[in-house]
Amino acid sequence: MVGTELEQVADELRSADKLLLTTHENPDGDALGSLLGLHLLLRQLGKDAAMFLAADEFPLPHEYRHLPIDGVLNAPPTDLAERLVVFLDCGNIDRMPVDFLRADGIRIVNVDHHHDNTRFGEVNVVDPSASCTAELVWRLVHELGAELTPPMAEALYIGLVTDTGRFMYRNTGPEAHRMAAELIEAGASPHAVNRQVFESLPFRRIELLARGLQRVQRFDDGAITTTYLSRDDFVETGADETDSEGIVDHLRSVEGTAVAVLVRDLLAEDRAGLRKVSLRAVDGEVDVSRIARGLGGGGHTQAAGFTTALETPELLERVRAEVGEQRG
Ligand code: AMP
Ligand code: MN
Ligand code: MN
Repeated sequence: MVGTELEQVADELRSADKLLLTTHENPDGDALGSLLGLHLLLRQLGKDAAMFLAADEFPLPHEYRHLPIDGVLNAPPTDLAERLVVFLDCGNIDRMPVDFLRADGIRIVNVDHHHDNTRFGEVNVVDPSASCTAELVWRLVHELGAELTPPMAEALYIGLVTDTGRFMYRNTGPEAHRMAAELIEAGASPHAVNRQVFESLPFRRIELLARGLQRVQRFDDGAITTTYLSRDDFVETGADETDSEGIVDHLRSVEGTAVAVLVRDLLAEDRAGLRKVSLRAVDGEVDVSRIARGLGGGGHTQAAGFTTALETPELLERVRAEVGEQRG
């Protein structure tokens, strides 16, 4: 089934001359790694492939600032109508909220690994058993008979290592390690990626983390571990929204936690009064994507998120009630 889907996507890519690649807003390592990896692959095949990210995504999160995505477009290309549009790592089309990609007549290829993917493309390869979208791009490299170059391998390795939580989440299986081995053979450096992505934190991140850890709260006998970051926390530490990445993972490491929750104020002027909620499930007992979907978001069973206008106490009540229901 998925094999056939992958072949269909490979056929689409093979027969397109002009393409536009994009990924979800607030791009993470898998989003950017897949985007860059597929871009390099298509360029190797001689295609006119462009990448698109909205202007407000810049600057990119600190850990990805070194990624060579020069030339990425921030506005629709004039020849958009001639381009095959490829969405990467997007569970639904609203994950890239720009209108021009919804125009009539645009042909969409959807490459993703979210189990709740809405299959919004004309052609879709959706494989929830893939550890990351970068894994699907890696399979496309083979399917298209391309050469895995060092820059491609490094981009895909970043997607793999971030989406698997450095090979420690439940989506880490033998295939993730086989992919890693092949990427390393092709030139990806685990040490260099680790230094760039995980060990070059701007100091403001540690200050923001300290604030988050200082006010951790636990509910329901420790089943829910949560914290909150206010607009003031960001302003006073000089942090931007991407600097809160990873804080929720500290909460999931607390013994007894079934679900970790980070609530943070959104900073953009047009999002004042809205909060972003990140949910992480610890042991497979709770499907956090169900909770996120019920509140207008989505994600994976183990990692999901949503944006809400609910006040923090009220939204925590909702999350607690849903976690309680799922745990019986
Ligand atoms: P985050 O908590 O932002 O790191 O997001 C965790 C995962 O949840 C992401 O990898 C996405 O798959 C998903 N996700 C986050 N926010 C949303 C949203 N607003 N809509 C759909 N999926 C989301
Ligand atoms: Mn992602
Ligand atoms: Mn992903």
